[in-house]
Amino acid sequence: MTEMVTWTCTGCALLCEDIQVSIDDNRIEQVEHACIKGRARIFGCKDKAIPSVNGAKADIDDAIKVAARILKEAKNPLLYGWSNSTNEAQMAGIELARTLGGVIDSTSSFCQGITINEILNGTIQTCTLDEVREKADVMVFWGADPMSSHPRHMSKYSYFPRGELRQRGYEEDRTAISIDVRQSRTAKICKNGFHRIPPQGDAEFMRGLIDALSGRVPKLSFDYDVKKILELAAILKKAEFGVIFAGLGLVYSIKEDIALLSEFMGALNQFSSFSLIPMAGHFNMRGFNHNLHEKTGHIYRVKFGEGEAISGVQYSVIEQIKSGADAVLVVGSDPLASLPASISRRLKDIPVILVDPCMNLTSLVADVTIPCSTSGIEVGGTAVRMDGKTMDITSIVQGNNMSDEMIIRQIIDEVG
Ligand code: SF4
Repeated sequence: MTEMVTWTCTGCALLCEDIQVSIDDNRIEQVEHACIKGRARIFGCKDKAIPSVNGAKADIDDAIKVAARILKEAKNPLLYGWSNSTNEAQMAGIELARTLGGVIDSTSSFCQGITINEILNGTIQTCTLDEVREKADVMVFWGADPMSSHPRHMSKYSYFPRGELRQRGYEEDRTAISIDVRQSRTAKICKNGFHRIPPQGDAEFMRGLIDALSGRVPKLSFDYDVKKILELAAILKKAEFGVIFAGLGLVYSIKEDIALLSEFMGALNQFSSFSLIPMAGHFNMRGFNHNLHEKTGHIYRVKFGEGEAISGVQYSVIEQIKSGADAVLVVGSDPLASLPASISRRLKDIPVILVDPCMNLTSLVADVTIPCSTSGIEVGGTAVRMDGKTMDITSIVQGNNMSDEMIIRQIIDEVG
């Protein structure tokens, strides 16, 4: 019999909770309201992972035992990934890292970690997406293209919907601005609100805006109409409820100068009320930062040892894979595809354990592969949305594999 269920989509960190799914005999039949990314997520991967040890098919319990032995024998194991796992699995991962005295890091290490750090430390003001929908009148998509990365962002929360204080919607009540190096799909919607800056020009443009906000005429080294930046500053100053959506374009460009972002937010808040929301990609990337912060006071790049857990750039996934880690547990990630080839190449030289529902590039170098259920489809739990709100996610079909949390807990039992 066909059953209709409401699903919280785990296709991205927007975690849309209004997806309708019809299920017949444990099979997903139809999906309504999901965007193309959400549909891709719910119908899963074609190439399912199979349990293996050294390239040969293995019993899953044996694969877990071998994984535990590798991790226990390693002097400096790295536990990496986590952004596609529930909070519950992430907590188990942190416990395993502590048990092993190893290093734990997530994809946020080279993504939105630095902006989330500022928010969790109270340096940058933030707000929820629900507040954006009800109140925001000015929104700036800086180095962000939600029309491509989070396809329902503008229609569900930020620009198109009517809100409690924005009854006349985008036609009259909302102003959308895009600051980017190219005219993205989002920039096209922003029309005259699009400001094209040169690659790596974000910091200079931001300093120019700080000057313009303070009434000084900005001086930019690149060709840019000063009048336009002064007009932009005037719009930002008049905002009643403004929000900066910080995309990866901005983060990559100013990662060495994150204090400038705090200074910019401070300058904005002298004149109006502005919050920042990081455009987290993977569905629970932000959850990892919250969970690790709760347990250690750090958001990523953590080494557990005899005393307090410590954090530092030397414990980042990149530095650890370059040199340091002598075994790697990868959970729900594909470092071989996402890290620079010069770094990920070293994964061929150290033992790699992969816990993932699907085959990926990293499967090619994994010494042990342990298939798990897909979080948010076959496994429920909780996750943290891009704005920091904790959301329930539910399982809608029964999978054949254990959850990643159960696998990690079984490894803890083996090594403990
Ligand atoms: S915007 Fe993100 S969470 Fe919403 S349906 Fe699309 S992929 Fe899923």
